[in-house]
Parts: sequence; C-alpha cells; structure tokens
Amino acid sequence: MNTSVAIPEQSTLFNSVLDGYGRRLALVFGNEFQDGRCPFHQSQCNHCDIGAGEGVQFNYELNQQRLVFFQDYYGDVLPDIVHLVIYNSGSTLNKLEMSPETLFYIAKYAASLEKCKIVSWDSRECYIKHKNLDVIVNNLRQDQQIKIILGIESQDETIRMVNLKKLMSKEAIEKAFAIAGTYQTRIGIEFNIVFQPPEIVGQAAIEEAEKTVRYGLDLSQKYEVPIDFNFHPYYPSRKSQVMFPDHPRAQLEDSLQALLLMKQAIAEYDNAAKIFIGWQDEAHDREQDKRTSELQQYLDIFNRFNIEQNIAILQDVV
Ligand code: SF4
Repeated sequence: MNTSVAIPEQSTLFNSVLDGYGRRLALVFGNEFQDGRCPFHQSQCNHCDIGAGEGVQFNYELNQQRLVFFQDYYGDVLPDIVHLVIYNSGSTLNKLEMSPETLFYIAKYAASLEKCKIVSWDSRECYIKHKNLDVIVNNLRQDQQIKIILGIESQDETIRMVNLKKLMSKEAIEKAFAIAGTYQTRIGIEFNIVFQPPEIVGQAAIEEAEKTVRYGLDLSQKYEVPIDFNFHPYYPSRKSQVMFPDHPRAQLEDSLQALLLMKQAIAEYDNAAKIFIGWQDEAHDREQDKRTSELQQYLDIFNRFNIEQNIAILQDVV
C-alpha cells in the first residue's frame, strides 16, 4: 500500500488558532467512500469543492497512518488543544465515509488529550443517529463535549435547497436537534453559515445571516442543545464559479455588520453560543489575490473576535 497518501497536502494542514474555548486545531482525515469523495459531491452542493476529497479513497489503515503523521506534525501543539475539530471532506458520521474503526480510533485519541474539552465532528444531517453518536459518546471522556458541525448554510430553504442544491430540509435539521437533545447537553450542534451565498447580497444577506442565527437559537432552546455558529464569508469555488459566474465574493464590511446582529441576537436569547469566523479555505478560493489583501486588512479583527467574542471589536471598525 502506498503510504505517502496518508500525508496530507499542505493546504489541509491547518495551523492551530484560538477560539472562544481556547486553542483549536482542525484535522482533516481522508474520506473512505468511493474515490475518496463525499457521496453528495456529484449531485448536490453547488458551492462545495471540498467534497471532491483528495483524489484517493481512504480506509482505516490510511487514516490510522494519517493520525500518526498528525501526532508527529502537531506534536508541539496537540497537548495544548482544547477544541479539536475533525473533518474528512464529507461526513465523519457516515460509516461509508469514515468507518466505525476509524471513528473509534480518532475518538480514543481525542480522549487521550488531557486539555481537550470539545471535539467537533463534521456531518450531514442524515447520519446524526444514535448508533453513530454512541461510538463517540462512549469513547470520549465524560468531561469532553461533543459538537456536530452541520452545514445548513442558511435558514432559507430556497437558498439552501434550490440555489446551493443542498437537499437538507428543515424537518431533517429539526430531527438532528431532537436526537442530539436526548444526550442532555453532552452533544451540541454547530451551524455553518455561508455569508452572502449565491443570489443574495448587501443588506438582505446581512439580515439573512441574522435570521439563520435566530433559527439556530430557537432550535437550541426548544431541544436544549448547545449551539455555536461557524461563519464563512462566501468565496467563488471551482464549482460555484460555473454555477454562479456573476455572484461576487462576500463583502467583508457587510460581514462585520452581520456579525454584530448575530451577536446581538445571541445576547437577546441569553444563549452561551459562540461564533467562529472560519477563514481557512483549503486553497479552494478561486480569487487568492483578493483573499490575501482582504486577510491583510481583516485577519487581526477576525482572530481577536474569535477569541474574545466581543462586539466592541466589530463596533470599532463598522
Ligand atoms: S457541502 Fe458537505 S455534503 Fe455537500 S458536497 Fe460538500 S462536503 Fe459533501
């Protein structure tokens, strides 16, 4: 077996950063489905290049080797990680994309990280089932919280199901909350929100982001499931450039306005939800020059906001 594919591309080797919980590290494992792709990539998700995977179908052995690589590569930071995030270019809870053996092995490893208090797992809604969650619940430590990252992108069904062609219904989202709720706050949900997604810009997009946060807060309250939000300003990907050639990348000034409203909504609900501005792109942003100049201007604000969760950081610049 070729072991070199176990070593990831530089673009998926994220640096550890700080978020509202502490030091955070995202680890990208290989996808074990056919051709190493997310099963939805070909037929859904008009904006997503990540689901194309790494061009190689992974298996338990390869992912085991990848974890060994990570342990060496991140040897200095792993002992300090508080929030570990697990990706696999698809759904970590789908046994065809991440085998139960791999899931178990990663969970056991996360449980060995003394300072790690939160472990987030990316997944589509249909795999949020007891039998999949139980592998994680039973193998992490009791003091470690589990979060499932759900890429709902927008509360608006036309944006999500029609524009983005992500066939995730509100009924299915609510079912995921109902299941998570049976674990008495041990399992939380993180919503991924794409800011200024195709066909919506300006003030309408700002209001849409706020509505998505309120939608998540309502579900959090109803099912007593902790919630957080990952905020991703839209950038043109290979796929979305074909589908929406005229839709612009997100205006970051607008994103600050949206974040302000999102924070205000969270305060209004008296919810402990945190927001993480996700600016890593795994090199999928097709406008890398624009990205570089934007980050020169905003990265410091994003990083400070991610740590402090303080509205004043945004108010200073809007
Ligand atoms: S958005 Fe998620 S479900 Fe859709 S193709 Fe990408 S990785 Fe797969």
